[in-house]
Amino acid sequence: MFDVEGFIRFVRGLYGQPEGVIPLHAPVMGALEKARVAEAIDSTYVSSVGAFVNRFEEAVAAFVGVRHAVATVNGTAALHVALRVAGVQPGDLVVTQALTFVATANAITYCGAAPVFVDVEEETLGMDPRALEAWLRQHATVRQGVCVERGSGRPVRACVPMHTLGHPARIEAIAEVCAEWGLVLVEDAAEAIGSLRQGRHAGTFGRLGVFSFNGNKVITTGGGGVIVTDDEALARRARHLTTTAKRPHAWAFEHDEVGYNYRLPNLNAAFGVAQMERLTALLASKREVAGAYARAAQRDGWHFVHEPAGARSNYWLNALRLPDVAARDVFLRATNAAGVMTRPLWTPMHRLPMYADCRRDALEVTERLAGTVVNVPSSPLPGRGG
Ligand SMILES: *Cc1c(COP(=O)(O)O)cnc(C)c1O
Repeated sequence: MFDVEGFIRFVRGLYGQPEGVIPLHAPVMGALEKARVAEAIDSTYVSSVGAFVNRFEEAVAAFVGVRHAVATVNGTAALHVALRVAGVQPGDLVVTQALTFVATANAITYCGAAPVFVDVEEETLGMDPRALEAWLRQHATVRQGVCVERGSGRPVRACVPMHTLGHPARIEAIAEVCAEWGLVLVEDAAEAIGSLRQGRHAGTFGRLGVFSFNGNKVITTGGGGVIVTDDEALARRARHLTTTAKRPHAWAFEHDEVGYNYRLPNLNAAFGVAQMERLTALLASKREVAGAYARAAQRDGWHFVHEPAGARSNYWLNALRLPDVAARDVFLRATNAAGVMTRPLWTPMHRLPMYADCRRDALEVTERLAGTVVNVPSSPLPGRGG
């Protein structure tokens, strides 16, 4: 039997909070953010142009090690536009994982494409490169350099793995399968700022990668996202599409296609510039928290989800695995009743009504993880983060 009372005592001790609600993940913010936002107000540029947008993009690009970063209103918009510039068109199929936040599948759907759900791995919680390859072998073929579904002839255009809870997927193996089959790799690295695979930042293995800066992520801009790429033409097109496809002109409104109003406002970018200054300290504190969970798990026999071999995780949300669904539900009820916020993983996409009829494989690992993994309080420790 899992000792839920012992777990609650441990978390309250970790955060030095004997009573009150302990959130799943609280943003760290203060004087630094106030100062940067005040600067933005004083500059009179508060909306979707301004120096802080450039500064934020440069800071993110330098941190993850890419040439170009394009800031957007949120991570979902970033994914939508990344898929558009990756060439995803109405009628296409896009392979992704069923174990993800709904934004991944929604962004594919916004393009008029249909998601295909393949299984994840026990160890990484991310897309299983063998499941990707198996689905392609069974259902697809390459015709004149284009991967198409046999029978329907629909292009299988792209692949969107997700770095679950900040743990890097086996992205180098996924990239190999994508290269062999001609799929464009777009990484949903929304949860993975600060996560590395083989020393390289998550989100930089694909043609494009996407990060989210929603309020519950490692750092936040209130709401925000970024598209990263080393490809200058793709970055330019992403910038164009997110600014209503307006052609540069001193006064005229000329738009050369149907674009989106998706650029990050300068106010949010100012907040983000402050958050980037804290990022290294926040990541260090998140590792402290993960280390404390790992030690407690070893002592008390909990199944803690460690970073995968060959990877460094940002430990965005720490996770435990419980023996079965019943034990998980007992844990969720008791912890939340005691003010210690815990959450199950997302309902897998194929069990949501709008995605129930999509193509998929057996999703055995997805089902097992979805029924047994819980997220536990993971904020940086009080006083950390600059
Ligand atoms: C947070 C998140 C997104 C983007 O979410 P926004 O709230 O739109 O910034 C996309 N995919 C995953 C997996 C996420 O966790």
